Amino acid sequence: MKSTLVRNKFSWATLTVLVGLFLISPHSSTANLPLERTALPLPQPDQAKISNNASQNVQDVTEFSEAEWQEHTIKIPKNGSLGTALASINVSAGTTHKITQLKDSRLLTDLRVGDTLTIWVDKYANLQKILYPKSKTLRYELQKQGDSFEIRTIEEQVEVRTEVATGTITDSFYMDGKRAGLSAKTIMNLADVYTWDIDFIRELRQGDTFKVIYETHYLNNEYIGDGEIIAAQVTTNNQREIHNAFRLKDGDKTIGYYDEKGKNLKKAFLRNPVDYVRITSTFKPKRFHPVLKKWRAHRGVDYGGPIGTPIHVTGNGKIVFRGWGRGYGNYIKVQHAGKYMTVYGHMSRFGKYKKGDWVKQGDTIGYIGMTGLATGPHLHYEFRINGVHKDPLKMKFPSANPVAKKYQTGFKQQSQLMLSQLERYSPDLQMASFE
Ligand SMILES: [Zn+2]
Repeated sequence: MKSTLVRNKFSWATLTVLVGLFLISPHSSTANLPLERTALPLPQPDQAKISNNASQNVQDVTEFSEAEWQEHTIKIPKNGSLGTALASINVSAGTTHKITQLKDSRLLTDLRVGDTLTIWVDKYANLQKILYPKSKTLRYELQKQGDSFEIRTIEEQVEVRTEVATGTITDSFYMDGKRAGLSAKTIMNLADVYTWDIDFIRELRQGDTFKVIYETHYLNNEYIGDGEIIAAQVTTNNQREIHNAFRLKDGDKTIGYYDEKGKNLKKAFLRNPVDYVRITSTFKPKRFHPVLKKWRAHRGVDYGGPIGTPIHVTGNGKIVFRGWGRGYGNYIKVQHAGKYMTVYGHMSRFGKYKKGDWVKQGDTIGYIGMTGLATGPHLHYEFRINGVHKDPLKMKFPSANPVAKKYQTGFKQQSQLMLSQLERYSPDLQMASFE
């Protein structure tokens, strides 16, 4: 009879056990199965309550029958905390203190407004259990263990499924993507994968096509969102140009996207080192310098923006100079593979990377300022090849590294498989079904 009660009460947990519970816990998984909770240690008085709140109405008989626990659902208000939540149901301050002393206490104390805690207490307001669902797939549970508590992290196994969407551009990529059943997230991901190759806003024309194989995530048979793109094919220029993209993974980590020949879809350099681009001065062999009041070449590109705007290093490389230079103010020089060097001037301050550090494309190496010779806050950016200044806005950048040797065999197999899958789907058929 008792086990039926327990089962009913924890039916949500039973269900997840059946579907597949993934436990990140130092304990054996059987010990954590909710149905075994009847095998708790022998009842002991709540020491915290006795020692810290001796004046309160202390009970030395603790009720351990789960059927008699009271369940409270508490939504964290503005300025709320675990302490205020527990206090609101008369759990002693001593118990709260005890929880904050646990090694992983932060898992339960880092609460956000609107988070919901489910708290179980026995009839003497002794805390028994807290459930904190952090997300759809992650939850933290605090349980009474003797006279102390233990926090467990429980992560649900997400089922990954594969889906295909195809379409032809009739309107805009976004609208046609939506029509083909793509989520906003996957539409953005697709634009990201091709960011160096295709301008989805200006370049796609009526009649261009797209096919996408992508991951979707399910929890307990319920769709919870899209995952990454596995492979894609986009045609441009009246279907004359075909752009393939295949994901390369190493274990759980996605390394990047490559074409059928293993060429990286990323370029070795970002076009611009700041996100919201406002170019205030372009590369000119000669110009009238506003501060020096002299005719002088402008051998870089200026990006205007508020002081503090992050500056991203445009390619992988090593910081070979970080310091002060006349004219440049606070500036950084990055040496990239081979003959390339980039320079970033007038910074208000530097990022966390120092001279000698290796940086990766996109890392924030500093912030826009107006140090050195500058009339207003901006970034002065230079791109040099073998010491010769080039116009980064007109450069044809080299591709980033191709598929590394150790992945080549696997990548070839996987990409050919994906390509044959992509070719099985006709975007025209898809269109026909709409008519
Ligand atoms: Zn400049």
